[in-house]
Formats: sequence, structure tokens, C-alpha cells
Amino acid sequence: MTDMSNLKRRAVAAIDAKREDLIRISDTIHANPEIAFHEHTAAALLCDALAAHGFAVERGTGGLETAFRAEARGKEAGATIAILAEYDALPELGHACGHNIMGAAAIGAAIGVRAVLDQLPGRVLVIGTPGEEGGGGKVILVERGVFDEVDAAMIVHPAARTLVDRRSLASTRLNLEFNGKASHAAAAPEDGINALEAVILTFNNINALRLHLKPDARVHGIISNGGTAANIIPDYASATFSVRAATQAYADAVLARVVQCAQAAALATGAQFKYSTQPGYADMIPNRVLARAFAENWRALGVPVQEVRPNERMGSTDMGNVSHKVPAIHPYIAIAPEGMAGHTIEFREVCASPAGHAGLLNAAKGMAMTTIDLLGDPDLTARVKREFAETVLNRNG
Ligand SMILES: [Zn+2]
Ligand SMILES: [Zn+2]
Repeated sequence: MTDMSNLKRRAVAAIDAKREDLIRISDTIHANPEIAFHEHTAAALLCDALAAHGFAVERGTGGLETAFRAEARGKEAGATIAILAEYDALPELGHACGHNIMGAAAIGAAIGVRAVLDQLPGRVLVIGTPGEEGGGGKVILVERGVFDEVDAAMIVHPAARTLVDRRSLASTRLNLEFNGKASHAAAAPEDGINALEAVILTFNNINALRLHLKPDARVHGIISNGGTAANIIPDYASATFSVRAATQAYADAVLARVVQCAQAAALATGAQFKYSTQPGYADMIPNRVLARAFAENWRALGVPVQEVRPNERMGSTDMGNVSHKVPAIHPYIAIAPEGMAGHTIEFREVCASPAGHAGLLNAAKGMAMTTIDLLGDPDLTARVKREFAETVLNRNG
């Protein structure tokens, strides 16, 4: 049996030795925010760092220009463990979700594992996954087979609480379009069909529906087009909604009701209605065996791991789709005071602060140590896969 604690100590030391480089990568991405699927600078920076540390790097993985896959092999055949990176920013807000830290943390984890990989069987992959904030790079990469040979996958997200097995909501993007008939809004309103009124009624219908939805459901939207001038009856209006719930089945059921709300609005106004949905994010199903191993490593580092509350607030992530394909975890590392929400200017500032840098290093160390556990202990990997078969495959099958 490999002496895991010694290997982990060496991995952690290798990460600490590259502390300044990792912080520079994180802060550089933070200072140059690039939105979904346009992360060219970030992807190049991360690929160059991986190549410099002995990884065989493939750029443009899965047909996505800003995706990548880096691989390093151990002393003999064994498990394939994937460490995932995100690095896209939010439109307008920049790196207010901390994906700059996630990109740099994956590099740190890779450096840590690489330092001891000659002592371990198997291989480690670093998979660069673009477009988490829109479009779902991981959804596409899963569909295109990038995770087919992966035995387990992990990623760590910065947050206001440290949680190892928080779930996430299944979500679907819904685009609604209404076509009416333009007319002079004062001189001849009776000749018009008001597409904007159809959008407004849709919102009101959904608000009437809310009382009857289970507490985990989330329906939220914007009016993306509401007409051009106050004196013209709008002949075109559109809205975009996000429909989420704790399970895909319930999210689908809520989506059907929301579409009915829009159909009723079209009927009431006489507008023509069409809609489209974008492939949603599946709910995250954390692998509990893997989560326990990860939590132990964080505790060994002195990182206090918090308990998930029954009413824990949740968003959605395309890591959910990965968790339906292979055993996966998506832990959160606290870098901000409790209560501070992501996607805010305050959180963006924290993502390039000393607290953000500390979170980056702990995220990297946790992933490196857990990857070493999985590679060095085939029994652990077998238990992780067994739980996946019993929970996720059973549920989906
Ligand atoms: Zn986000
Ligand atoms: Zn995020």
C-alpha cells in the first residue's frame, strides 16, 4: 500500500511552492474577464501552465475552442481522475462568480498530483470547461464523450460557506416570443395586437402559479424585448425565463405549467406565440463516498467543513450533468463572509483578495489530496463507483 499521507504532504508542498504563480494566474483571469465561450486568454494561460508542468495538453477539446484536456500518467495503468476548471465571467459584472479561482485551483491541484504521480498508478486529467454561466460547456463535453473514460470528477467553487456535498437545482432556459400587430397606440389601438401585453400577462400568470409550486421551484425571468416606442402598439415582444427545481422531473413539470401561462397570455391578447428551450443543467448529485474523502482532506488541512442545511440555498451548475455521467463532487470553499451572495460586485472584489487567494490554495490542495486518495486506493475508487451505480444510475435508469 502506498504511503498516502507522505504523498499528500509532498503534493501540498508542491502547491505551496507555486503559490505566487497560482495567485498570478487567478488575478490575471480576474482582471481580464471573458464571457462564456470567449475565454481565449484564460484558456491559453491555463493550458500554458499545464504544459509547463509536464501535462500533454489538447486545446479545443470536444470542438469547443476554449475547452481543453490535459493529461499526465502515473507509473502504471489505473483509475482516470478528472480535475475540472471553469474560467468564464459574467456579462457586465466580470468575475463575480469566482471562476478565475476555479481555473487557478485546477492548475494548483494538477501541480500537486504531478509532483507525486510517478509513485501512483492511473492518470490525472485536467478538463477545461468553458461557458458555465451560459451555454453549458460541460453539457456539450459530456455529450461529446469527453468524460467517457473518467472514473471520478471534481471541481471546487468559491462561496460564502464551505460545503462539500451541497446539491444544485436542475434548470432549463425558456425563450418566449409573441408576435402581434403594430398600430398607432392613440389613434387606432383597436387595430393592434399587443405583444407586450402578452409578455406582461405571462409574468402575471406565473405569479399566480407560484403559490402552487413546491418550495424548491424557482421561476425567474426578464423582458428581453418590450417594443420600440410608447406610441406604437408593440408587434413583437419576448421574454427569457429560467425554470429550476431540485429534480429534473419536477423542473420539467414546472416548465410545462409556465408554457401554459404563456399560451393563456397569447390566447387572451390574440398574439401568436412560440417558444424554445435550451438544454438545461441537471441537478448536482454529489457522490457521498467521494465527498467524505474530500471533507477528511480539508479537515486535515484545518479547513472547517460546514454542514448542508435542510433549506440550503442553491443555484444551478453544469457540473450537475457531469454528476449524472460519472461520480462527481462540487464542493464550495468559503472566501466571503456568510450571507454574501455570488454574482454581486462585493463578491467579485473578494475573488481577487487575500481571502480569495487562500480559498484558491485550499481548493487546489483538497482536490490534489483527494485525487491521490483515488489513484492510490483502488478500493476507495471502487466504493465511489459502486455508490454512483446504486444512486445515480439506478435513479436515471
Ligand atoms: Zn455563477
Ligand atoms: Zn459559478
